Amino acid sequence: MQKSRLHLIATIVVTAAALTVAGCAAASIPAAERTGAHAGDTTVSVGPPSGETAEVGGHTVSTADGYAADGAPIAEIAHTPSIANLDPDLRRAVARATEAAAEDGVEVRINSGWRRRAYQQALLDQGVEEHGSLDEARRWVNTPDRSTHVQGRAVDVGALDAAVWMQEHGRRFGLCQTYENESWHYELATTAGGECPPMRRDSSAG
Ligand SMILES: [Zn+2]
Repeated sequence: MQKSRLHLIATIVVTAAALTVAGCAAASIPAAERTGAHAGDTTVSVGPPSGETAEVGGHTVSTADGYAADGAPIAEIAHTPSIANLDPDLRRAVARATEAAAEDGVEVRINSGWRRRAYQQALLDQGVEEHGSLDEARRWVNTPDRSTHVQGRAVDVGALDAAVWMQEHGRRFGLCQTYENESWHYELATTAGGECPPMRRDSSAG
C-alpha cells in the first residue's frame, strides 16, 4: 500500500513537472499534489484544472462549480469559473491590488472566488459536519442564498502575509474585509481610497 502510494505520488510529481515544461499553468502542481493526498479514497485524475473534482460535504464538486484545489495569483487562474464569474469591478480591483502588493514583495493568491450554489451548499454541509450545528457552521460558511461568493462579490485571499497586506492597503482599491472572524475574506465594499464600512461579527450576522 505504502509502496504503491509512493509510486503514485512520484508519478504525479513527474506528470506535474512535464506539464510545467509544456507551459501549462503552475496551478497544475498544487492541484496534482492535492489529488495525490487523497489518492487512497478517490479516483486519481491528473490533468488541467478544468478536470479537477473533489468530495466536499458529501457532494462531488468541480472546477465548473468554482472549486479550486489550491490558491493561485488571479492572473494565473483568470480563465477558471472561480475568477471569470466574479463581478468585473471586483476582479479589476483584486488584479490592481495584486500588482501593488507584488511591488511590496507580497504575493496575493486567491483561494476562493465565485462559487456555484451547489458548491456553497456543499461547503455548508461540510461546515455542519465539522462544527456540529448549522448555527455554528454559519459563522464561517454562509447559505447559498446569502453568500457573497455565490453572487461573485467576494474573494478569499492568502497566504497570511497577503491578508495582512490587504488589511493595510486593500481600501486603496475599494477592497474591505467584511467579517471580523475572516481576515481572508474581501469584498468591493467602498470606492477606491474610501472608508470601509464597519465589519460584521461573522457571516451569520446581519
Ligand atoms: Zn469568503
